[in-house]
Amino acid sequence: MDVAANLENINSKIKQACEKSNREPEEITVIGVTKYVTIERTEEAIEAGVKNLAENRMEGFLEKYSHFKNDATWHFIGTLQSRKVKEVINQVDYLHSLDRKSLAKEINKRADEPVDCFVQVNVSGEESKHGLAPQDVLPFLHSIEQYEKVRVVGLMTMAPHIEDEERIRGYFRKLAELREDVKNLKSDQAPCKYLSMGMSNDYELAIEEGATHVRIGSSLVGSQI
Ligand SMILES: *Cc1c(COP(=O)(O)O)cnc(C)c1O
Repeated sequence: MDVAANLENINSKIKQACEKSNREPEEITVIGVTKYVTIERTEEAIEAGVKNLAENRMEGFLEKYSHFKNDATWHFIGTLQSRKVKEVINQVDYLHSLDRKSLAKEINKRADEPVDCFVQVNVSGEESKHGLAPQDVLPFLHSIEQYEKVRVVGLMTMAPHIEDEERIRGYFRKLAELREDVKNLKSDQAPCKYLSMGMSNDYELAIEEGATHVRIGSSLVGSQI
């Protein structure tokens, strides 16, 4: 399917999810995840009107960014090794994978301007997933207060690949609750307005539970692998 048709389909599902949950589609940012696809397919996404793009590896990020830096807002959604921070951090508009103090420290050292970050939270507790345990998020925020170039604009999570919708919903709801806890800190460094949650399989549930940013790869641009 062409990206424009996929996007239309996704937008209509977003609209339905918003109607069910009394939200407005304008509140939702669709991030096209291009990690599976070529430069040509990425270009097709941009032409279809996708304005936010994401990659999860540094090499892929830098390649796509070099082609399309002025055509999209750029999100980095993968694990970022501290030693690679200097190579990408000034190209990234939003980092979705802040998960440790050493990374915050390195960002603070290498960034020219404050970087908008999402703190990645492992809500489901799966061992294979990155991110902080929910109870560690507030202490973590406290521990990075000295890093002025790190702005915590939201929280991010990945739900497990399971069938049970109620359980998936529960994980998203938990992240939304945690965002309220962070907002209540009323910290200038951590306005924490956003929730980055929902992928191809579960973005409608995520929106019903408050997602502001959905990260969609395979059902938008497809997957080559
Ligand atoms: C690959 C990836 C996505 C997109 O996955 P799809 O299921 O293809 O939509 C979203 N978020 C992260 C962090 C990813 O690595």
